[in-house]
Amino acid sequence: MVAPLYIAYHSNDDPMEYWQQGLEMLLPDIRLVAPDAPEAQKAEVIITWDPPEGTIAGLPSLKGVISLAQGVDHILKDPAFPRHLKFARLIDPYMSEAMAEWVLLSILEKHRDSEIYREASTRKEWIRLRPRVAADTCVAVMGLGAIGSHVAEKVAMMGFRTIGWARSSKSIPGVTAHTGDEGFSTCLEEADFVVSILPLTEETRDLFNAQTFAKMKNGAFFINSGRGLQVVEDDLIKAIDKGHLSGATLDVTRIEPLPKESPLWEHPHICIWPHVSAQTNADTAAHQVADAILAIRSGKDPENVVNVDRGY
Ligand code: NDP
Repeated sequence: MVAPLYIAYHSNDDPMEYWQQGLEMLLPDIRLVAPDAPEAQKAEVIITWDPPEGTIAGLPSLKGVISLAQGVDHILKDPAFPRHLKFARLIDPYMSEAMAEWVLLSILEKHRDSEIYREASTRKEWIRLRPRVAADTCVAVMGLGAIGSHVAEKVAMMGFRTIGWARSSKSIPGVTAHTGDEGFSTCLEEADFVVSILPLTEETRDLFNAQTFAKMKNGAFFINSGRGLQVVEDDLIKAIDKGHLSGATLDVTRIEPLPKESPLWEHPHICIWPHVSAQTNADTAAHQVADAILAIRSGKDPENVVNVDRGY
């Protein structure tokens, strides 16, 4: 009988059985175990979302970590994270596609005045607004990585004038990409829709605040599916309440789940989604998790390595 392949697993989102089933078709001997199980002491790999502080450092046989998400802030926020370990994240085209659907939905809801028509229909009112032309409407996608570049391309394919922002220069069909502080300002100043799909790092924490909202166009609409800590929520509410921004759709918030007492819930021009714009899916991602486990165990670099110094 072959000895089980013990892999530590922690996620408060997906039950362990979900990934056990997804992975055992590819690695029949795999046994996912909780980090506090005795077998976890032998685990060379942990696959995880948002592990409690010290979880990873507490596993003595670890060679590597696999993030059960495309973002890695939920792991790097742990001050005890052992930086020498191999560290892979997911890059799943399914998630890019799901995010593109959600961003387009959020843009089109506003672009085609759906809130106004829904409200009018509750009063049985027949009102007709003239829609804006997509080509005259500018969308800025902040973050042009694995997800953002795909989203920007799809937005451009819908006919919107599409610009974007990244650290390094990009060539994406239909998209004018900007970099640096100047590029950031250009995006804010030109866009009717500002969409953040940035990772959470020291540089992007609180990036959207009173000063940066003030730089946005009068009437601009803000969409965030990056991370909640990138947005100073009180400043967002103030920018909308004084009529400078026309509203926001947020898939991520500073505290998740969003507390019931948060003013974001009841704001008439803010739409809250519960961090579902692009969810990790074992059907589409198990293959790369399995490959990363095998690579780490044999001492090789997995695909989609995280740059720990850069924070994404
Ligand atoms: P990537 O790492 O592939 O891309 C990140 C992008 O952000 C890159 O284009 C990078 O620039 C840019 N960037 C990072 N820091 C800066 C900076 N300081 N200045 C300018 N540009 C910067 O990430 P993904 O596309 O895979 O995912 C992005 C984020 O989306 C995740 O980190 C996560 O937070 C969020 N996410 C949210 C989900 C949800 O359900 N709401 C689901 C999945 C992800 P460069 O290319 O030059 O390095």
